[in-house]
Amino acid sequence: MKRSHNLIIIGVILLLINGCKKDIDSAAKSPIIPPIDSLYAETERIIRNEYDFRAIFTWNQYKELLSKLKQDKFIVMPINEMRNTFDESKVVVGLRHDIDFNPFKALEMSKIEKDNGIRSTYYILATADYYGYFNLSGVVRNRSMSRLYKKLYDNGAEIGIHNDLLTVMISNKLDPFVFNQNELAFYNSLNIPIYGTAAHGSPIAKATVPNYMMFSDYAKKDTLEYNQEKYLIGQHSLKEYGFEYEAYFINFNIYYSDSGGKWNDPEGFDGILKKLDDSKPGDRIQILAHPDWWGK
Ligand SMILES: [Zn+2]
Repeated sequence: MKRSHNLIIIGVILLLINGCKKDIDSAAKSPIIPPIDSLYAETERIIRNEYDFRAIFTWNQYKELLSKLKQDKFIVMPINEMRNTFDESKVVVGLRHDIDFNPFKALEMSKIEKDNGIRSTYYILATADYYGYFNLSGVVRNRSMSRLYKKLYDNGAEIGIHNDLLTVMISNKLDPFVFNQNELAFYNSLNIPIYGTAAHGSPIAKATVPNYMMFSDYAKKDTLEYNQEKYLIGQHSLKEYGFEYEAYFINFNIYYSDSGGKWNDPEGFDGILKKLDDSKPGDRIQILAHPDWWGK
């Protein structure tokens, strides 16, 4: 409920600012505040207000993780590079971030990575509050966020799509294939290349099937039922959708994730650091750190 409330607020701001723009254009002597700047500032205020307090880990802990990964034993890279990098003399690490709620934390994280000479992949979620709002014909994007996506890219990151096509199809009643084509066209218009996607664990996915089952490569069936309605899945391949990889299906043998704000190790974050110490050349590790949980 809170999320859709936010969405409406951002939508109203979008409308207001678009409305103001016309007024500014027609009244040349009015003080001019670039609308995109105020939209960006307002989105940042709303999103930070709503989500910043969820942070569990500190930036110092993140720096600690990066300084470990900077040791000679490791080579760290975005997921698209990891899938094609094989080096038995190193621990190959693919570093990944799914931006579920808070792109402003993602920007902070990418700055820390840049300062440490480390590159990673950020997956952007079209069904998130920050991205925009949906109507019958598609998503109305929050234009001010484009600069944030470009900044992430300019900081050296790979940008990918955090796939929530099940929500797009079921909740927003849109054709997932057409929707995704429009998404790829959008990133293309920003000169941001898209190679891959990573499935988002949305409530609908948790109630039905993982989002990667939209792709015929991974679909175990061709329909799903939700609230007594039937939906087609697995109708097109990953490649037909326009992607070269799905992050969960690239070659790796170890997976560390802070999903839900909890590292998948009995000793938590410290346990992950120990496991990294124990890793051996030839290991292939995918690390997923959600920016939402960082910067306490
Ligand atoms: Zn996610």
